[in-house]
Amino acid sequence: MSSITERLKATLATIPEGVRLVAISKYHPAEAIAEAYNAGQLDFGENKAQDLVVKQQSLPEDIRWHFTGHLQRNKIKYIAPFIYMIHSVDSYQLLEEINKHAAKTGRTIPCLLQIHIAEEETKFGFTPEECLAMLKQEEWKKLENVKIRGLMCMASNTDDSSRVATEFRAVRALFDEIRDRWFADDKEFDTLSAGMSGDYLMAMECGSTCVRIGSSIFEG
Ligand SMILES: *Cc1c(COP(=O)(O)O)cnc(C)c1O
Repeated sequence: MSSITERLKATLATIPEGVRLVAISKYHPAEAIAEAYNAGQLDFGENKAQDLVVKQQSLPEDIRWHFTGHLQRNKIKYIAPFIYMIHSVDSYQLLEEINKHAAKTGRTIPCLLQIHIAEEETKFGFTPEECLAMLKQEEWKKLENVKIRGLMCMASNTDDSSRVATEFRAVRALFDEIRDRWFADDKEFDTLSAGMSGDYLMAMECGSTCVRIGSSIFEG
C-alpha cells in the first residue's frame, strides 16, 4: 500500500519543470488534501463550487484552488473571492458573469477557455470554431476583471492512443494560433491545461503545460 505522499512524489518525478501539476481532489476529504499539501503540493482542483468552498475554509490559505468542473452562473459568487484559476469557461456569457463577480470582490480572475475536442457529446466547451468566433468579436477585451490565460481540454476517454494524441495536438495547434493572433505580446497567455491520470504523459508530449491528476495521486 502506498500513501498519497508517495504517489504524489512518484507523479511529480514524471513531470518536467515548466509543467504545472494540479492535484484534482474532488471526492477526497480535507485530510487527504492536507497530506498532499504537507508534502509540498500547492495547486488543487475541484469540480463543485459547494465542495470547494467547504474545503477552502478548512485548509491553509496559501493553497491555489483551481476550478475544473462545469460552473453554473449562480455559483460564481461563492468562489470569486479566492479562486486562483477557472479552467472551464465554456461560453462568453460565463466569462462576462465571472468578470462581474470578480469586479465586486476587486479581483482579476485568471481563466482558461475550455475546448470541446472529445468524441463524447456529454463534455462541455467551445468547439474550436466557436472559440475563434468568440475571440474575433473582441468583446472580451472589455472585461477588465478576467484574464484569459489559455485553453483547457479533455481528450476522448478511449484506449485509442493515436486518437487521443491527435486531439491533444489539435488543441495545442489552436492554442498557438490564438496566442499568435490575440496574445502575441502577452506573456501571461501561457497555460494549456490538458491531461489527466490516464493520458497526461501523452498530453505533455503534445505540448500541455498543466496537467490535472486525481486518481493516480488520491487513490491507491
Ligand atoms: C476528475 C477530473 C480530472 C482528474 O481525473 P483523474 O482521471 O482522476 O486523474 C481532471 N480534469 C477534470 C476536468 C476532471 O473532472
